[in-house]
Amino acid sequence: MKALRYAWASPATLVGLLLGLFALALGARARHVDGCIEFGGGALRAAIARLPGPCRFCAITFGHAILGVDARTLDVVRAHEHVHVRQYERCGALFFPLYAGSSLVQFVRGRDPYRDNRFEREAFAAEGA
Ligand SMILES: [Zn+2]
Repeated sequence: MKALRYAWASPATLVGLLLGLFALALGARARHVDGCIEFGGGALRAAIARLPGPCRFCAITFGHAILGVDARTLDVVRAHEHVHVRQYERCGALFFPLYAGSSLVQFVRGRDPYRDNRFEREAFAAEGA
């Protein structure tokens, strides 16, 4: 079952690995933690700070690849990001449109498209548990 979960999430993981290669080019380091590859450090924080406001993040997950501004941040947000890993294992590449759709629904309802997104609510709930 584990191999199937990795295979099902692999299209998203591939996106994360490509972004991870970009992070490595910026001086980030990669490490293997709890079945995922984490990328953080180097000039990644500065690169993320140059993104438009709504696109900035301290950490983001793509399948079994997680990018974070630095190793300490990755340690702090690991429980939250690993909820997203489980979501990718359930949804595969469908996670992308499902996540965007949930954000769109919340935006149309006048709610916060990030905090009220169903996938984020699940991650924040697990983080607080
Ligand atoms: Zn999240």
